[in-house]
Amino acid sequence: MMYDHILVRYGELTLKGANRKMFVNKLRSNVKQALMPLQGYNVKANRDRMYIEVTKEADIEEMMRRISKVFGVKSISPVMKIDKDVETAKAQASDFAKTYAEGDSFKIDVKRSDKQFQYDTYQLQRILGGAVLENNPQVHVNVRQPDHIIKTEVRLDAIYIYDRVIDGAGGLPVGTGGKTLLMLSGGIDSPVAGMEIMRRGVTIEAIHFHSPPFTSEKAKEKVIELTRILAEHVGPIKLHIVPFTEVQKQINKVVYDRYTMTSTRRMMMRIADKVVHNIGADAIVNGENLGQVASQTLKSIYAINHVTTTPVLRPLLTLDKEDIVIKAKAYGTYETSIQPFEDCCTIFTPKNPVTEPDFKKVEKYEGVFDFSEMIDRAVNNVETIEITKDYQSQKDKDTETLMQDLF
Ligand code: ATP
Ligand code: MG
Repeated sequence: MMYDHILVRYGELTLKGANRKMFVNKLRSNVKQALMPLQGYNVKANRDRMYIEVTKEADIEEMMRRISKVFGVKSISPVMKIDKDVETAKAQASDFAKTYAEGDSFKIDVKRSDKQFQYDTYQLQRILGGAVLENNPQVHVNVRQPDHIIKTEVRLDAIYIYDRVIDGAGGLPVGTGGKTLLMLSGGIDSPVAGMEIMRRGVTIEAIHFHSPPFTSEKAKEKVIELTRILAEHVGPIKLHIVPFTEVQKQINKVVYDRYTMTSTRRMMMRIADKVVHNIGADAIVNGENLGQVASQTLKSIYAINHVTTTPVLRPLLTLDKEDIVIKAKAYGTYETSIQPFEDCCTIFTPKNPVTEPDFKKVEKYEGVFDFSEMIDRAVNNVETIEITKDYQSQKDKDTETLMQDLF
């Protein structure tokens, strides 16, 4: 089937006036961003919906796959825009039904915003339904539970006709809700936390704590790949990789074994807090989930949170693990997250971490050494990479060049 437009429906853009305009503009630029570097389209966004005109050569399925990931998009449909002429509409509706299987049912659904059009909704339904049946003896009408719905919208400028509606990612356009810093480990939870926060229109940069040689290049590559998947929803994301080895070693020197986990998290938080300030963000986001592991009891969250006054957002706080896994699969991060590369915390995790840490105790342990210089050094040596949805790691590029040189 050849289509000439993609219709994009907006999510909950209930805002009015100038705000609405800002939301629509942001959504349009995010959609354009998602379509880059594909060719053969022209995006037109108005107050209520977006029409993307596509050329015959355009890869419309790939375009729809990408647009469906853009937050703020409720649903999309590939459509034909046709003249306001009933014969053309009959031919087009019949054409759609050609692809329906033997025994399939359909119905015609008409919306008419042009009240001057020569036929009313009911008449059009009958006319188009009749034409479909005449040209496609294999199908029949079922208005209650049809296998296919041929939607026909009679608008002022043209008739739009389509029979597929694809779910979008929902939420709000990213870039309309301020900026946060996502603490991104290689685990299942934090990428999902990032998605959930972006879904509310919030921009993210990501921070990852890396402790070579205790954590490998592979672990870092994994976080880069997770960032790339996040970027499919928004365009480029900055990933700040913090050299954390020195701090971790020092923690292990001075902090009582059962408290090293708590202290590690507090140092991460102190560093994240500085980076938040440097990038002009207003909150930290993490993947913490109440009661999941030792470091995520209320007492523990309290002790960790104590080092900052910056809001710490925890979008997964109350979810069940299995629901987080479902989300991770839907967002496409799960397969990457479960790759077995050590993260900086698991390596230093004590056998028996305290589950109800007393923040006064951890402060006492940390107090024997002034961490501030080390923390500043970590912040100053952050490696920042801008990751696009098409990001290729240097290693992959090197392999590619090597292959090209060989053959
Ligand atoms: P995740 O699946 O996100 O790793 P988790 O259930 O394994 O979460 P923890 O390992 O206790 O939980 O980590 C809690 C949160 O702390 C993570 O969700 C993440 O936001 C942050 N975090 C942990 N390790 C790192 C790291 N190496 N770099 C950046 N953030 C981290
Ligand atoms: Mg983890």
